[in-house]
Amino acid sequence: MDCPVPPRQLYIGGAWVEPARGQYLPVINPATEKAVTRIPAGTPEDVEAAVAAADAAFKSGHWNRTTGEYRAKFLRAIAQKIREQKPVLAKAETMDCGKPIDEAEWDMDDVATCFDYYAGQAEALDARNAGAPAIDVGMAEFDVRVRREALGVVGLITPWNYPLLMATWKVAPALAAGCCAVLKPSELASLTCLELAAIAHEVGLPPGVLNVVTGTGPDAGAPLSAHPKLAKVAFTGSAATGRRVALAAADNIRPASLELGGKSSLIVFEDADVEKAVEWAMFGAFWTNGQICSSTSRLLVHEDVAPAFLQHLKKRAESINVCDPLTPGCRLGPLVSEGQYRKVLSYIEAGKADGAQLLTGGCRPAVPAIGSAGYFVAPTVFAGVQPHMRIWKEEIFGPVLSVATFATEAQAVAMANDSEYGLAGAVISACPERCRRVSEALECGIVWVNCSQPCFCFAPWGGIKNSGHGRELGEWGLENFLSVKQVTKYVSPDIWGWYNPPQPQAPAKL
Ligand code: NAD
Repeated sequence: MDCPVPPRQLYIGGAWVEPARGQYLPVINPATEKAVTRIPAGTPEDVEAAVAAADAAFKSGHWNRTTGEYRAKFLRAIAQKIREQKPVLAKAETMDCGKPIDEAEWDMDDVATCFDYYAGQAEALDARNAGAPAIDVGMAEFDVRVRREALGVVGLITPWNYPLLMATWKVAPALAAGCCAVLKPSELASLTCLELAAIAHEVGLPPGVLNVVTGTGPDAGAPLSAHPKLAKVAFTGSAATGRRVALAAADNIRPASLELGGKSSLIVFEDADVEKAVEWAMFGAFWTNGQICSSTSRLLVHEDVAPAFLQHLKKRAESINVCDPLTPGCRLGPLVSEGQYRKVLSYIEAGKADGAQLLTGGCRPAVPAIGSAGYFVAPTVFAGVQPHMRIWKEEIFGPVLSVATFATEAQAVAMANDSEYGLAGAVISACPERCRRVSEALECGIVWVNCSQPCFCFAPWGGIKNSGHGRELGEWGLENFLSVKQVTKYVSPDIWGWYNPPQPQAPAKL
């Protein structure tokens, strides 16, 4: 099938630019294993040019020294174009990363909503700065207020599982704040990020405000994260790469916000409605083909209901529609790449070798109308998983659900918290008080009650422990790209008086 979007170059300084070394990377459709197009392979020279363009745009003041109201118009125009181009963008996303087309369309809606939301945040920033209240410092001579200003040039490095959405979570707030950005999407899925550049160009975004450099992590990501002209690096990806990015930024005394991996738990209590709980368990593990940072890939089921629950889960998992992800109604497509496919299969082998019970899946499924190509892995459920097993401890990033049982609430919480990660957690129970207790006890940044995975651009997103730090989305997402400036005014009519000239001495009386 032909690629729905045209081949693009790097987008630097408001123009399409051939990569400095003239090299390109193939774009492989993971459902067919065939190359559909190519993307430019950016290298340090291209990163240098992109940062220089962003720096010039920032220094010109044409973006950051204007109003939020001005910037909001561009963000709304981008949202509008995303909506208009949704069918093409969604198709490109699916052919690039393998997510089911229904999910890709949903992503495009979320992208547009996110740009609109941060348009509103940009406007609100004007009002916040104009109406910033005085801080009571206990001295009437001083009027102390706070201004929020754009940080500067920011480097944005993003993964492949939500290619355009993860980029939007950074681009929209960065631009709303007044920053100028260099975006480095994942080399495994960059098509829609290049289309975002095309849309930015179409709506007349000033040159240099958004630059997109595609390429590999070592060739394009590493020089970006180490660039001394950046005010900040915002990164989403694996913990291993996040550590490298944070170290590179720290070397320049620059902050890095990190949205990393996870190994989150869904706890199902004995009073849960089995039908509803199974649906959320599947959504938590198999949505986005299981390649989601917040996946509740650990399932803790109360021992009293485990047999009935697992029986139902097996039946439902085996009924998931695995097919060409471009087919409407597809609910599980291929993994993003051959490397990811092999990695997930090796975890399945590790689960078997460690003695976990393979309840269903564990292999490549028969995929109608696809044949033997494609990086498909059947929805996989392991039961009897023990805390020492790799499939319980490590992020697999594929459609593999590890199930364990528990007897008490305290035991369930302890098992959920026993993880190097702390991104998300979920609890399903008919008892609101128990849900409240568990929500408070889970060590993570996001908790779902009686559901798993819903995500809204208005609410904060991010984790603790090895899942990173900093928060994206909501007003927290904007703060990520703002610097807080204290402005202190001396408002007294009197001289400050510390160095008052010495008073003339009265002549001493004799
Ligand atoms: P990855 O770490 O392999 O790559 C992420 C990005 O970093 C890519 O653009 C890559 O090219 C770049 N990169 C690679 N090496 C680099 C280097 N040395 N310096 C700078 N950049 C470099 O991650 P991935 O495989 O693309 O994505 C999957 C991971 O992302 C999973 O661990 C997942 O949990 C995580 N993730 C987290 C969130 C979140 O919100 N917390 C969201 C989505 C994905």
